[in-house]
Amino acid sequence: MLGRTFLAAFCLASSLPLGTARAQDAPRRVENVIIVTLDGFRHQELFGGAERALIDAKAGGVEDVQATTKLYWRDTPEARRETLMPFLWRTIVGKGQVFGDRSKGATAAVTNGMKFSYPGYSEIFCGFGDPRVDSNDKVPNPNKTVLEFLDELPAYRGKVAAVCTWDVFPSIFRSSQNKLFVQAGWTPLEGEPQTERQRQLNLMVRRLPHYWGGNAFDFITMESTHVYVEKSRPRVLFIGLGETDEWAHHRRYDLYLQAAHESDDFLRSLWESLQAMPEYAGKTAMIVTCDHGRGSNSDDWTSHGEKVDGAENIWIAVMGPTTPALGIRTNVAVTQSQIASTIAALLGEDFLAASPRSAQPLPGVGVAVAQNGASR
Ligand SMILES: [Zn+2]
Repeated sequence: MLGRTFLAAFCLASSLPLGTARAQDAPRRVENVIIVTLDGFRHQELFGGAERALIDAKAGGVEDVQATTKLYWRDTPEARRETLMPFLWRTIVGKGQVFGDRSKGATAAVTNGMKFSYPGYSEIFCGFGDPRVDSNDKVPNPNKTVLEFLDELPAYRGKVAAVCTWDVFPSIFRSSQNKLFVQAGWTPLEGEPQTERQRQLNLMVRRLPHYWGGNAFDFITMESTHVYVEKSRPRVLFIGLGETDEWAHHRRYDLYLQAAHESDDFLRSLWESLQAMPEYAGKTAMIVTCDHGRGSNSDDWTSHGEKVDGAENIWIAVMGPTTPALGIRTNVAVTQSQIASTIAALLGEDFLAASPRSAQPLPGVGVAVAQNGASR
């Protein structure tokens, strides 16, 4: 059905005299994939916006309840979630899809059983949970990630990168072995000549309080991303944001909400800047997700891990030129382990051949269209 739509669009474009084909008639294909994670950001806020019980001094550690209510509380879940994350709801879900809305019979879950960060990111990028990946220690991943797989292909060599708040990511991607570009934590962004934005960024890396030693503020990672994309134009880019998890562990619901809201605005600014570059415009897909959920009551919302009920529930949003605008997916169960092969499949590449333990791609997020217009 999809294939036919694409072929129809392609044939229409080919039958027009040269020069009259409009952009929307061109064969749609994905040449670049951007993956963004919001560490430990709950499906409760993603689908329902701010939670009333947590906009509270005790349960949420909220400093100014009145101001936080004014910023994020609205009468309906739809209004609350759009207030919290306007770009994700209006643009990503508006033009794409989101999995994991349990009120619509849709689940998205981690399968690794551990419900914390390294096992979650490993499942996202390797395509399966591995019991050997059982800590957040800086040990090289025993398995190949889809980023390493793509970077080995001639078309993507040196065009795959990760920019992340957390300094464990070089181990998750085992970049000391495969030489993937992984910018992580409180590290200045190298590369000459330095732009003014890069100089300012590196001054902030030095001068800002390194409040969490192993985890930079999201702003550092957001700015590093903008500078890196402008300079290096990667085809596959992972951006790992971390403040949602940090503030939740600190029981600061106000700052957790702010981190989510600013992450959303970063997605908007990144997407807009990509659409202004010919390498990306109209041929870039974006996947936004998280590594694990958290608890669901006013006590354990701050926490996650093996013993926390519900922390296995996540959400996955996808948008791109080959992804039909199905919006909120209903009555479908997906897993975190399906993301790795989806990243490759969107580009028309087969990660399953290299990593047979990986789960199948997410259903219905798009077919790759080869250069000659044939779907595969
Ligand atoms: Zn995490």
